[in-house]
Amino acid sequence: MNRLNVWLTNGLLITDGAWGTELQARGLPPGTMPDTWNLIHPERVEAVARAYVEAGSQVILTNTFRANAIAMQGCVEADLDAINRAGVALSRQAAGEALVFASIGPTGKMLLSGEIDSEQVAAAFAAQAKSLAAAGADALIVETMSDIEEARLAVDSARRTGLPVIASFAFDSGKNKDRTMMGATPEAVAEAMVEAGADAVGANCGVGVEQVVSICRRLRAACDLPLWIKPNAGLPTMEGTTAEFFASHYAALRDAGAAFLGGCCGSTPEFIRALANAQRAAS
Ligand SMILES: [Zn+2]
Repeated sequence: MNRLNVWLTNGLLITDGAWGTELQARGLPPGTMPDTWNLIHPERVEAVARAYVEAGSQVILTNTFRANAIAMQGCVEADLDAINRAGVALSRQAAGEALVFASIGPTGKMLLSGEIDSEQVAAAFAAQAKSLAAAGADALIVETMSDIEEARLAVDSARRTGLPVIASFAFDSGKNKDRTMMGATPEAVAEAMVEAGADAVGANCGVGVEQVVSICRRLRAACDLPLWIKPNAGLPTMEGTTAEFFASHYAALRDAGAAFLGGCCGSTPEFIRALANAQRAAS
């Protein structure tokens, strides 16, 4: 049995929304690495987590998206460890009954160009995953990936902790906006992540809520893993506020196979509240 199913017995779980914009709203200056705030302004990071829990998130992430040795080059190992551990601790303090899935983002460097090699990437992800697991995360979420090879290295490192691992990609490229920046299709991603031993696969960032429905369906058709879906907020429409429009896709995404549903860039606690309302109304 898939290890995530124990949490999915009552159906789809609502996750959280964007963190960057919420931190900016609390004073994070542009150009500052948000992850460093886990140590500098822990109360403001915790406030973001709390805002999502209060809005109805049943799973919250951690402010650790960039806290790997490559993305935060120049940051000493002990500091990275502290940033990752604090990220989990802050989300945990706010979580209450909610689960804490710790965020692992891309390195920002390209394997394909030789800018960085597999050993460096694997070592950076392994160190981060170890810190996140030691701090008590419930699962690890490898997110906003575009390179299958980089994601494979991250999933490998994350799996060594023994925690369930989710692998989520940003589909935003190609003429139909259904490929990652590196050209991977939902089918290729699903197949590679099943093979890598991920416990769930998904799509985050990239396209908005309307376009993610077909990506979700394609992931569903390509594998049996639970699906993790966190589209970007998209633009305001004639049909109402962005949050209402976003949440109006709840049933379509549930029916397309989403097991975890939240928002990425541009989404706020208001979006999560609207999604949680849509879930209540649908049950
Ligand atoms: Zn995003």
